[in-house]
Amino acid sequence: MAMGKKFYIETLGCAMNVRDSEHMIAELTAKEGYVPTETLEEADLILINTCSVREKPVNKLFSEIGVFNKRKKEGAKIGVCGCTASHLGEEIIKRAPFVDFVLGARNVSKITKVLHTPGAVEVDIDYDESRYAFGDFRSSPYKAYVNISIGCDKKCTFCIVPHTRGEEISIPAELIVQEARKAARSGAKEIFLLGQNVNNYGRRFSGDHPKTSFTDLLKMVSEIEEVERIRFTSPHPLHMDDAFLEEFARNPKICKSMHMPLQSGSSRILKAMKRGYTKEWFLDRAAKLRDMVPGVSISTDVIVAFPGETEADFEETMEVLEKVRFEQMFSFKYSPRPLTPAQSYEDQIPDEVGSARLARLQGRHNEILDAMKEERVGQVHEVYFEELRPGGMVAGRSDNNMLISVPGSEELLGRTVKVRITEAGRTSHRGEVVA
Ligand code: SF4
Repeated sequence: MAMGKKFYIETLGCAMNVRDSEHMIAELTAKEGYVPTETLEEADLILINTCSVREKPVNKLFSEIGVFNKRKKEGAKIGVCGCTASHLGEEIIKRAPFVDFVLGARNVSKITKVLHTPGAVEVDIDYDESRYAFGDFRSSPYKAYVNISIGCDKKCTFCIVPHTRGEEISIPAELIVQEARKAARSGAKEIFLLGQNVNNYGRRFSGDHPKTSFTDLLKMVSEIEEVERIRFTSPHPLHMDDAFLEEFARNPKICKSMHMPLQSGSSRILKAMKRGYTKEWFLDRAAKLRDMVPGVSISTDVIVAFPGETEADFEETMEVLEKVRFEQMFSFKYSPRPLTPAQSYEDQIPDEVGSARLARLQGRHNEILDAMKEERVGQVHEVYFEELRPGGMVAGRSDNNMLISVPGSEELLGRTVKVRITEAGRTSHRGEVVA
């Protein structure tokens, strides 16, 4: 064991990457005696956990690791991990020979192996980590990310994830429940279930396993007494069947915020994206959700200017925005990703057209958020506090996922308290604790 050695880690991208980094940290600390540092220059090991979805272009990654190489101390190792590691593999070491190892997104359990194998490249996207028991490490004592599946079976034509994380395998339900129970008993009252496509859970397990759907899994996790809140990401609109929506509405432990990645409002473009649902299906699910769950918040992802998107297609996206009035929207201009079918589609949209559509979509969404702000002042929500903020503030999230800060101190952390909103913003609000 390398007692006292230090590691520095930079994590890019989504919650899956955050969890992968937590897994690597758990392995490094428990099995190799490493301790974390926030100072790159004093690290013995520098890790960058990369994202390929919409992160920096590959050239930027190489310039960043070049900077790491210049700043690192004598003898320190550099490892490139995550999705970009999966898709570039050996090329990373060819272009940057000072990189000591490359570890793909589906191989994080091998961190202690590659650490001792100079030049190792472990990027097998068929590797099965679904039963691997990682050590315990969580970035927050109040919330636990728990993986429920690895990989993705969908073939959305704009997405690189199936090439970086491989085919979908569900983690056995008993392991998930065990991990959630352990985390909740140690104070993480909020369990955040993670997968690329959570509501497709149970489609394939490694080895024999009783049939279990995502709806069944939600029920099982909610039966853990110490768990107070359950969140999950990302569900797929295609798999939002009635049983799932009914459980979401009925179960008081499931937080009432739903991510519904629309991507496009045009059924024609959704077909080209291979999303598997139509505009009508999406609108039907969103309407049912609003109807069944008063106060629910719906967030979404939108890609504008996908190849072949006409003005009429884009207007359909605008129409869905008007109808659903998303509480949160992550919107992007389409950018071709390596290894994806859509990158070679002929009818790519000129950049300025994409920029204009994105500006219009975001402008209208901001107007919708501004209108919502007025309704929010005076509302009372149950807020679970998780984080100290500068200026004597404490921040937490309401059941429907609004970020709310109040004046306060550590004593609020890990507690759920009633808060009245006094000042509403587009993405975060201020409030006061209701006595
Ligand atoms: S569902 Fe589609 S967008 Fe999501 S990870 Fe899978 S392939 Fe990518």
